[in-house]
Amino acid sequence: MKDIESLELTKQRQSVLQVIRESDKHLTANEVFDGARRLLPSISFATVYNSLRYLKQEELIGEIRFDTGAKLYDRRLTRHDHAICDDYGKLVDLELPLPDELLEVAADRSKFKVASIELTLRGLCPECNHE
Ligand SMILES: [Zn+2]
Repeated sequence: MKDIESLELTKQRQSVLQVIRESDKHLTANEVFDGARRLLPSISFATVYNSLRYLKQEELIGEIRFDTGAKLYDRRLTRHDHAICDDYGKLVDLELPLPDELLEVAADRSKFKVASIELTLRGLCPECNHE
């Protein structure tokens, strides 16, 4: 991971990146805004939002999109998979081995040159699945 100081980023982008890197969970834009405001009280939501777009484009953060249009921001940049709890939306990281065959089938069916595949598991997390 590159040093935040060594990147040529504005103060605003630096604080947004810092919030994401220091968090151990996946953050919504609103949560990033709350954190960034603690570092830089004058920052606006629009600036945070634009910074997120910029950081994503520069591949300094990861982004997870849901079918609902919601997005979560992720400090982990290497390929990984996620599991989402249907009950309260908790999201955790996990790594699943992908068989080469899956990549081949995916490439064949989509006609895409496949760069990566990320899987999202849905179900109930251990806490919700108690009874
Ligand atoms: Zn993740």
